[in-house]
Amino acid sequence: MRYIRSSSVTLENITKKSTIAAEFTSVAASYPFRVSPSYAKLIRREGDAIWKQCIPDLRELDDAGQCPDPLAEHLLSPVPGLIHRYPDRVVLLVSNRCPVYCRFCMRKRHVGEGDAPMDAQTLKQAMDYIAANPAIRDIILSGGDPLMLDDDSLHHILQQLRAIPHVTIIRIGTRVPVTLPERVTPELCTLLKRFHPLYINTHFNHPDEITPLSARACDLLADAGIPLGNQTVLLRGVNDSLDTMRSLQTGLLSLRVRPYYIHQMDLVRGTAHFRTPIATGLEIIRGLRGHVSGMAVPQYVIDLPDGKGKVPILPDDVERQGDLLILRTYQGEMVRYRDLTTVADS
Ligand SMILES: *Cc1c(COP(=O)(O)O)cnc(C)c1O
Ligand code: SF4
Repeated sequence: MRYIRSSSVTLENITKKSTIAAEFTSVAASYPFRVSPSYAKLIRREGDAIWKQCIPDLRELDDAGQCPDPLAEHLLSPVPGLIHRYPDRVVLLVSNRCPVYCRFCMRKRHVGEGDAPMDAQTLKQAMDYIAANPAIRDIILSGGDPLMLDDDSLHHILQQLRAIPHVTIIRIGTRVPVTLPERVTPELCTLLKRFHPLYINTHFNHPDEITPLSARACDLLADAGIPLGNQTVLLRGVNDSLDTMRSLQTGLLSLRVRPYYIHQMDLVRGTAHFRTPIATGLEIIRGLRGHVSGMAVPQYVIDLPDGKGKVPILPDDVERQGDLLILRTYQGEMVRYRDLTTVADS
């Protein structure tokens, strides 16, 4: 397995007018720094939504109470690089590199410059595990960013997966359309479309990430028949307002990207300053539901600690009194709705 060649701008280059570059360097010693030139160009000023996502912050260091792996992924890993939490699907961690190291990353402990991609022997073990477990029908390639692998490596992985008869769908989780849109070439799309049904879930967090370049990347993928979804992480100071989320989620629909999840921040060490209360997420969902196209409303999910899985949460809009439901409409009106009486049939 090999990575594509890709470059990073230097921290000094971005923060040159700032006096805090030295402090940032000390954070980057614990959690690697990497920002692609195309993502760096999206920064308009110090402290904006793009800056906050990619520039090291001293607060990453004062977070001793949190766990590096709260989701207990290492306990759900029967063979290295594979996470098997749900009955019918597994995550394969094929890459440890990303074009940008997001400061809020839930896999902060994995991603890093020095890390090699999954090696041939580990890949073989993972393939053997999948082949031996016919209940597994959905494979999620993740990492790191799988599209940091070169086309030959991706081809090799996809071909091996497609050789397993019970593997039905393949998903790729990637932030490349946002952080390295030039990686999405017509050649890559031609390769991917040979392995349908193949889905891509990408990761836009802010309307400023919707640019002519990221739009073109999504266009090429959608034109290759790849259904596109999006997973957003709810981030304090970045996208924790209704206006920002509305513009992000509706903007995505116009790129043929269907909003899938808004993730509550996991309790990962080094990321506490990004966390919002659950009420913030619920208010955003309430402000979207009914007010914009239902296609633009993702599920708000909490990934529970200890590997217990994702749980969607909704604003409290149903009250039950026996077979009478009292439902709150999107405009706030309380409406009574009579359910079937459960004893009726025999
Ligand atoms: C999120 C996740 C999945 C995929 O879950 P979906 O709800 O099907 O998108 C699978 N395995 C693990 C370990 C996950 O964290
Ligand atoms: S692209 Fe994804 S895996 Fe990579 S650093 Fe960002 S959030 Fe983490």
